[in-house]
Amino acid sequence: MKTLVINAGSSSLRYQLLDVETHEVIQYGRCEKIGEQKSSIYVVSGEQYKKLVLSIPDHEQAMRLVLKELRDPEIGVVEDFREIDAVGHRIVHGGKYFDGPVIIDGDVLNKIIECGELAPLHNYGAAKGIEACMHQMPGIPQVASFDTAFHMTIPPVNHVYAIPYKYYEENDIRKYGFHGISHRYVSRRAAEMMGKPIEELMIITCHLGNGGSVTAVLNGKSFDTSMGFSPLDGIMMGTRSGAIDPTVVTYIMQHEDLTPDEMTAILNKESGLLGVSGVSNDLREIDQAIGSGNQRARLAFEMYAQTVRRYIGAYLVEMSGADAVVLTAGIGENSPAVRQRIFEGLEPIGFKLDKYRNEFGTPDCEISTDDSICKIFAIKTNEEYLIALDTKEICEKYGLISE
Ligand code: AMP
Repeated sequence: MKTLVINAGSSSLRYQLLDVETHEVIQYGRCEKIGEQKSSIYVVSGEQYKKLVLSIPDHEQAMRLVLKELRDPEIGVVEDFREIDAVGHRIVHGGKYFDGPVIIDGDVLNKIIECGELAPLHNYGAAKGIEACMHQMPGIPQVASFDTAFHMTIPPVNHVYAIPYKYYEENDIRKYGFHGISHRYVSRRAAEMMGKPIEELMIITCHLGNGGSVTAVLNGKSFDTSMGFSPLDGIMMGTRSGAIDPTVVTYIMQHEDLTPDEMTAILNKESGLLGVSGVSNDLREIDQAIGSGNQRARLAFEMYAQTVRRYIGAYLVEMSGADAVVLTAGIGENSPAVRQRIFEGLEPIGFKLDKYRNEFGTPDCEISTDDSICKIFAIKTNEEYLIALDTKEICEKYGLISE
């Protein structure tokens, strides 16, 4: 089954056309700097590669460009869109409405736009992409997979905030959680690698990319997660603060006479690794700065690992144990130094990192010793594959494609 997976970011649009049965990626690419002066698209089909610098004013145009490249006479891989069985869209925020993937109709599209108030940088762009697909690919099923959906199983004890209850009841202020597709994928993959049913396991998944979150996956379901009402909560990130005392926010706003938008920008774009180090949001550059003796870069690195440790500790206690911890995304998959720091000194409580496996293992791999009570894995996340699988399953369920 050929599925087109669309992943719209705030100023980017990634896509893959893949065969879900064989795992073959037929064509993939990315539109970057959408809405800026010089946008670009790169496209890869097998050995062929193409990059164009041009103007892409919005996500609708980006989607049109992607559809054009899929049928391009040189690099294209389909002659007619009817060769594509379905389209799966990653949607960041499904609010309280969606606890799993759904076929997109007018009502679903309206709800995605409504939830855009909670994730304006992502949902509106994704909605534009959906509209363009619906227009240019009539009759081909469009499916939405939500980042928040996996976390809808988090019980009230973990998703209600300790503020007046009316905000929960009347304004839907609660923990939603994000990166759900990635946490779901890597927890399933870890269970597969352990050869055990996920329903019998307690797994802590750490998605450590430029954005990051940690999730307690209890018996295959999300039980708690570090991001909250927005993707700002939880661990320290590339440019996001993660959890801080809310009084710091009101204090700075009052003292510096800042608007809510200005304060939001500081917390989202100028904080985290970048804010503390003053060097970069990219861990590789932080590593280099540490190498040349930069003390603030060292502090940022230590703080980063410490926030991840804090959530692992919290979820270990919340679940009364853990069978495995998984590290994934840019930092989790690629940084032995961060992984080593996270598990340093934790042997007495059951985590034994294998130095050699940590240094030289290629994800997907186990990086704990054979006698470690809690297994530790580095797993390459694959949100696109899971979205394609979701799309296939739901299309089959509703008889939209033949099994
Ligand atoms: P992601 O958001 O998952 O693409 O992750 C991006 C982040 O991963 C970058 O900002 C880097 O900090 C980090 N990263 C990627 N490759 C490496 C590497 N080889 N070593 C350390 N960090 C890395």
